Amino acid sequence: MTTPNTPDLSVVVPLYNEAASLPKLYAELTSVLITLGLPYEILFVDDGSTDRSLELIREWSKEDKNVRSLQLSRNFGKEIATTAGIHQARGRAIIMLDADGQHPVERIPEFIARWQAGAKVVIGKRTSRQASAAKLASARLYYALFRKVTGLSLDPDTSDFRLIDQVVQAEFNKLTEHNRITRGLIDWLGYRRAYVPYAEKPREHGTATYSLRKLIKLSIDSTISLSLSPLYITAYIGAVVLPLATLLGLGMVGNWLLGDPLSLRATGGAYLIVLVLFLVGILLVSQGIIGLYLSHIHAETQNRPLYILADPPSSDKSEER
Ligand code: UDP
Ligand code: MG
Repeated sequence: MTTPNTPDLSVVVPLYNEAASLPKLYAELTSVLITLGLPYEILFVDDGSTDRSLELIREWSKEDKNVRSLQLSRNFGKEIATTAGIHQARGRAIIMLDADGQHPVERIPEFIARWQAGAKVVIGKRTSRQASAAKLASARLYYALFRKVTGLSLDPDTSDFRLIDQVVQAEFNKLTEHNRITRGLIDWLGYRRAYVPYAEKPREHGTATYSLRKLIKLSIDSTISLSLSPLYITAYIGAVVLPLATLLGLGMVGNWLLGDPLSLRATGGAYLIVLVLFLVGILLVSQGIIGLYLSHIHAETQNRPLYILADPPSSDKSEER
């Protein structure tokens, strides 16, 4: 059952070395949340910061009963930090946002309104972005490839500035994969959605801590964890190469047996190349077969639930977490 001090709203903030941005964020967030008039908690998740971030959030959690601080043992990356926050959140609705001031907290009431109107997932959609042309171009390329490879469409304008209902949280908490991209998983879970447009603000201090290297790794990992088709690529190539090489080889041998009516005058080297092509074809196909087995193992080890019930039995809803 819900206890009196169970908040209606949890705000999860993953942070990594954000000491410079935190005080302003905390002040703005608090004033917006107080105006809303709902019991709330702010859950700061320190992702192994090396600056004063942890000190700040610890201090606030002592002074302010609405603040909780969570500390990860080291830097795990934003996706894991956000996941940890979602696991710990106790609110009926959970909002996640960045610590660097890029997600306008003044839009929170709109997220709440959409949620109260029945949406289980409310997604912030950027109408303008603060990123270099190179970052934008590579992001577009990634999203296009991602859609091709996984068959899931991640909208490049939707962000991690999101609200999820506790029903969605309960399902999210069942997902056990290690390589994860939070918004990809929330999209995978489905549920009734609403969108809140917002203009992304410039980062107030420091530079984006997501380095290019981390972003590339995240792109590859998230694609692999959501899709099996890269495993089939060699099988597809093999499926083209093998019949081609077989036909070519048979044609050449037949031509040779008939005394070269096509006057190919094929040299030993040519036969050798066709033979190699044939063998490579066999290798690619057998690699593809291994890929098929691997894909099944992969799917099983991921241990995802087979389906998600949009409306679980009522006993689940009142469960205390
Ligand atoms: N962040 C984190 N762990 C990391 C990197 C970033 O918790 O390893 C947090 C960061 O403090 C910020 C949010 O994730 O609150 C978004 O990070 P950033 O601004 O660097 O990324 P971008 O704006 O490019 O998405
Ligand atoms: Mg940022």
